[in-house]
Amino acid sequence: MIAQIFEERCTGCQACVVACPTHVFDAGTDGVPLIARLDQCQTCFMCELYCPADALYVAPEQEGAPSLSAVEALAMGQVGRLRHDYGWDRDAPPEAPHLQDFWQLGPLLREGAEIAARRYAARWADTDIA
Ligand code: SF4
Ligand code: SF4
Repeated sequence: MIAQIFEERCTGCQACVVACPTHVFDAGTDGVPLIARLDQCQTCFMCELYCPADALYVAPEQEGAPSLSAVEALAMGQVGRLRHDYGWDRDAPPEAPHLQDFWQLGPLLREGAEIAARRYAARWADTDIA
């Protein structure tokens, strides 16, 4: 479950707003997104993968309190760890060279997120798109 956005790290790029397939975020007036629909979070980690500033923490628990608080996760270097460990910035760890090309999934994942966002928008508008 999305647990926190660290405002001091956020650059306001809105990448997380676009990447989230279930439209959890709203663009904030100061550039920092708002967690507007927490109940729609799927714990998919897409926002954490796409955040270039390591400003998001998604706790692995889908329900209930996180085992690690956002502050603890930040102190332990866990924030953004998923992105780095998967080589999303093309810096996969040497012991896992097979992850070096993982970033190439980016456009495909983004396309899926955009399709999902359109479907959510259509549902809210009570219209039907295939
Ligand atoms: S974990 Fe997935 S569903 Fe939850 S806010 Fe991030 S992108 Fe959206
Ligand atoms: S992707 Fe990261 S830096 Fe960009 S708006 Fe979201 S939290 Fe801020």
